[in-house]
Amino acid sequence: MAAETALDTTLRKAIFAAADSDTVQQFVRKHGMRLGAARFVAGETLDEAVATLRRLNEQGLYANTTLLGEGVHDRAATESVTSAYVGVLDRIAAEELRANVALKLTHLGLEIDDELAYSNVRRLVEHAAARGSFIRIDMEQSQFVDATLGIYRRLREEGLDTVGTVLQASLYRTPEDLDSLLPLAPNLRLVKGAYLEPPTVAYPSKADVDAVYGRLVERMLAGGGYTAIATHDDALIRHAIEYTQEHGIERDRFEFQMLYGVRPQLQLDLVRRGYKVLVAAPYGPDWYPYLMRRLGERPANLLFFLRNAVRP
Ligand SMILES: Cc1cc2nc3c(=O)[nH]c(=O)nc-3n(C[C@H](O)[C@H](O)[C@H](O)COP(=O)(O)OP(=O)(O)OC[C@H]3O[C@@H](n4cnc5c(N)ncnc54)[C@H](O)[C@@H]3O)c2cc1C
Repeated sequence: MAAETALDTTLRKAIFAAADSDTVQQFVRKHGMRLGAARFVAGETLDEAVATLRRLNEQGLYANTTLLGEGVHDRAATESVTSAYVGVLDRIAAEELRANVALKLTHLGLEIDDELAYSNVRRLVEHAAARGSFIRIDMEQSQFVDATLGIYRRLREEGLDTVGTVLQASLYRTPEDLDSLLPLAPNLRLVKGAYLEPPTVAYPSKADVDAVYGRLVERMLAGGGYTAIATHDDALIRHAIEYTQEHGIERDRFEFQMLYGVRPQLQLDLVRRGYKVLVAAPYGPDWYPYLMRRLGERPANLLFFLRNAVRP
């Protein structure tokens, strides 16, 4: 088991290193959808994504979608992304989908200027609120955590409630971040963390991340607000369910979240047991970094890709 973990860690680092290579990127961008990216991506167009969201809804699942993209360095481009999200929110409302939006602040200009990202996301939160919808601000690499939580806090203090964000169990700072957010009765998605971070800021060992995750779920469920338990980990899901049962926490105070294409049977099993499950189903042509994170989480996914590559 320990050897398997060490191999996974090595492969994970190799996948993140390869993800930055231009050659790998060119090849995967050209052939990736055929090789298997379609398993994790709801489509390349909004029309395709809407069809996927509808299929998920028909199975009793809630959904969110994301226009894939991050790290935008051009002001005008952030304006186009924001307008595209206005279109996504309008389309979700018009189609009466049980779906909302998750987005990344670096897609809305966080690396250019915090104020730009703030005003873009504020516009979207207001637009979503007017349509009875909700915006989740994803959490990105550790250098963006302060700015992301700052913008989330600012929106909430300005009275905007239909917005939530994400905390990553992998970061040492997260228990303190959670404590400082709890007075806001926040809507928080708890995740393990998808980015390769240095040991100065994050636990290198998966066992440590898993242990912190379990404690964060307990703290959040006990502390108020709304908890999105975003993991595919059987043991942690079981732990969360037991905790809610033992502490009489009602089912309208939390939901499970999973990724499109990951453990679909588990998603449906939880729905059958009466739990709310939301599936994150991103779309768009810019799926490369998203796909690389999905491979990094589970190096065995590489085999799935390689099998498709050699299949006639
Ligand atoms: C809805 C949602 C939103 C997320 N948002 C963010 C975010 O904003 N910021 C962020 O840093 N991270 C985010 N993540 C990713 C998260 O941090 C983890 O990287 C990811 O969920 C894998 O961890 P796990 O909790 O499923 O546990 P793991 O221990 O990694 O996996 C448990 C089991 O789930 C299955 N599994 C997990 N990942 C995969 C995969 N990629 N392919 C196939 N099977 C898999 C395997 O069976 C594995 O044994 C999000 C995850 C979800 C589900």
